[in-house]
Amino acid sequence: MSYGGIEAGGTKWVCAVADEPGRPDKVDTFPTTSPEQTVARAVRFFTENGPVEILGVGAFGPVDIRLGSATWGTITTTPKPGWGDTDVVTPLRSGLQVPIALDTDVNVAALGEWRWGAAHGLDSFCYITVGTGIGGGAVVNGRLLHGLLHPEFGHIRVPHDRARDPFDGICPYHGDCLEGLASGEAIRQRWGRPGQDLSSPAAWEIEAEYLALALVNFVCMLSPRRIIIGGGVAQQPTLLPMARQRLRELLAGYLRVPELTEPQAMEGYIVPPKLGGEAGVIGAIQLAWEAQHGS
Ligand code: ZN
Repeated sequence: MSYGGIEAGGTKWVCAVADEPGRPDKVDTFPTTSPEQTVARAVRFFTENGPVEILGVGAFGPVDIRLGSATWGTITTTPKPGWGDTDVVTPLRSGLQVPIALDTDVNVAALGEWRWGAAHGLDSFCYITVGTGIGGGAVVNGRLLHGLLHPEFGHIRVPHDRARDPFDGICPYHGDCLEGLASGEAIRQRWGRPGQDLSSPAAWEIEAEYLALALVNFVCMLSPRRIIIGGGVAQQPTLLPMARQRLRELLAGYLRVPELTEPQAMEGYIVPPKLGGEAGVIGAIQLAWEAQHGS
């Protein structure tokens, strides 16, 4: 039996097929253009490389993942042009005639890292991505975290010191939420160039500050046993070390565990994804596999 997975992100889609979970055989990555073009390219990939018996999809959000909802599978209030109120599941299902298991792109990345990567064996952890946008998924007490809809880690509010950082933020809904201040797109607009071209230590100190403020919230709210931080912005080599240090300073010894107080233990607490850029698509395949076999 063959399984299909799509990491349907806001910047790129990654499609893969696998005979066994954890080992994608064929992978294709392409930019997220219009919904029609992007979905058509995914359908073509699975038609040429399939057939698959079931497809797991991790979609960027906000997306309606409530089973039984009339708008299940619809990307709803995204600011991404052309994608608001777009049903991604129906055209995939009608194009491929297969059942679909759906979650958010960050929840499936968390699932991939849980079964095959940096969170193996943990019953509670978070996966955060800091890329073009910011999102997060979580496993709490051995289950992917869902609720009213799904978590939206990127849109929490963090203190914004306008004397240090007068930038207004770019989130069309909230202005200076975390994504508005610290996403790759926020970096690009604040400094007039993308993060990979930005060498100013002050710029990365501000980025580490926002990330650490967000981490304080995640640590205090969810008590994760580990936090995995992926995404293109997080690959800047000084960012995670600075964020760990600021997290320790901001928590100020309040939570007395080595993971939050000892620099060496913190290196194993705030970590990059073990599956790198394939966490999402491996998680999407895993989602499909678990829909058939149980978790
Ligand atoms: Zn926002």
